[in-house]
Amino acid sequence: MTHKMNRRGFLKYTGSAAVVAGVGVAMPRIARAAGGKVVIVGGGVGGATTARYLKLHDPDIDVTVIEPNATYHTCFLSNEVLSGDRTMDQIAVTYDGLKGMGINVVKDSVTGIDPAAKTVGTAGGETFAYDRCVVAPGISFKLDDFTGVSDAMFDTIPHAWKAGPQTALLRSQLEAMPDGGTFCMVAPPNPFRCPPGPYERASQIAMYFKHHKPKSKVVIIDRKDKFSKFGLFTQAWKDLYGYGTDNSIIRWVNGGEAGEIAAIDPSTMTVETDFENVKADVINYIPPQRAGEIALTAGLANDKGWCDVDKLTFESKAHAGIHVLGDASVATKMPKSGYSANSQGKICAAAIVALLAGDTPGTPSYVNTCYSIAGKDYGFSVAAVYRYSAETDTIAGVEGAGGLTAVDASAEVRRREVAYAYSWFNNIVKDTWG
Ligand SMILES: Cc1cc2nc3c(=O)[nH]c(=O)nc-3n(C[C@H](O)[C@H](O)[C@H](O)COP(=O)(O)OP(=O)(O)OC[C@H]3O[C@@H](n4cnc5c(N)ncnc54)[C@H](O)[C@@H]3O)c2cc1C
Repeated sequence: MTHKMNRRGFLKYTGSAAVVAGVGVAMPRIARAAGGKVVIVGGGVGGATTARYLKLHDPDIDVTVIEPNATYHTCFLSNEVLSGDRTMDQIAVTYDGLKGMGINVVKDSVTGIDPAAKTVGTAGGETFAYDRCVVAPGISFKLDDFTGVSDAMFDTIPHAWKAGPQTALLRSQLEAMPDGGTFCMVAPPNPFRCPPGPYERASQIAMYFKHHKPKSKVVIIDRKDKFSKFGLFTQAWKDLYGYGTDNSIIRWVNGGEAGEIAAIDPSTMTVETDFENVKADVINYIPPQRAGEIALTAGLANDKGWCDVDKLTFESKAHAGIHVLGDASVATKMPKSGYSANSQGKICAAAIVALLAGDTPGTPSYVNTCYSIAGKDYGFSVAAVYRYSAETDTIAGVEGAGGLTAVDASAEVRRREVAYAYSWFNNIVKDTWG
């Protein structure tokens, strides 16, 4: 038996999940049930959350998620796979939770969207009609024109910026690396998914070296002079990996020091910059980024490669009836994170339910917390609650709601932040995929 939930019923279901995930989404007033067909492109964080919350809200909405992979690997905590602290299985999720709610999960890849006909076409030759379409394809790469860089290089020089086989490949290279070897990361320019991610990765790999290959080094060739949680990471590197001393495991070469990168040569395993050639045993090239390919194909992206949206509903500014969220969208000032994508998915689901019912969407609150684990029992986080500002057309942080772990936090606080990070992971996976 299916039944439609009234507002109280909906909050009963979502309220607990929302509190667990730390999300406060103002749900729209429901005058009548909506029904309708929603097709979702991508079963990652943004797409799966939207699907689940649409169905929680109104089981009569016909929800289809189109996703090429049978198993999704979370990028969150994938850096722990690189250090050996977590297995690939521990970051794997299936779509059984969504299917169990009556969501139609189709294993296929979307190749085109026709906003006039309101249809989505797939590589498998199927066509899906929609009343509302949601596009959450994550990121694609804009390869630099350094000598040696090509799509083919990722078989030997992984990006590991989409979790899955690339993560496993990078881990196996680190395991095979001799003690005394060098791991060199080429960090991406802004904007990119998970701003603290490269530096958490460097920390996790330094931890692995410290315990298993103590003569090995991490070199980060950056295009930036500063990065997210800069003070917290550099303090962690001093506390844990000798940063600032001659024996530091980590060397961070900032944009100014690195100058221009000329080449990444897979045959000699060298990163060539204006000022030095770094010879490495393992190279991790994280390219510049833009919205997932399908967003570009469907004409949803701006000239920088990201998708402009109405920040209250995530409806595309390029095509009515299509919503874009998660990493692919311009949701300034929210960072491109899984928690942001989850929060946006709930807001988008609420807006779609209202729009399908002919109502006006409510006014949302948005939330993001991002944990980083820099070493054993050494975590920190940044948290923010946001509201829409019409004045600046941004999703602006609410003053006093959020903050950053103190640089001089006690060992106990650092240890607890790791426990919170693991708890956050369990909750967000459950809240997103069921
Ligand atoms: C190393 C690393 C660590 C991170 N750590 C954190 C963290 O601790 N906390 C945090 O909040 N965030 C973290 N992130 C960021 C987070 O993973 C992303 O921001 C999040 O996954 C974005 O969600 P999304 O739905 O936009 O994209 P994704 O989750 O990438 O989902 C996109 C989905 O769309 C599918 N897709 C793409 N094209 C098509 C198509 N044509 N047809 C059908 N399906 C398609 C893909 O297969 C994929 O499943 C991390 C990222 C990295 C790289």
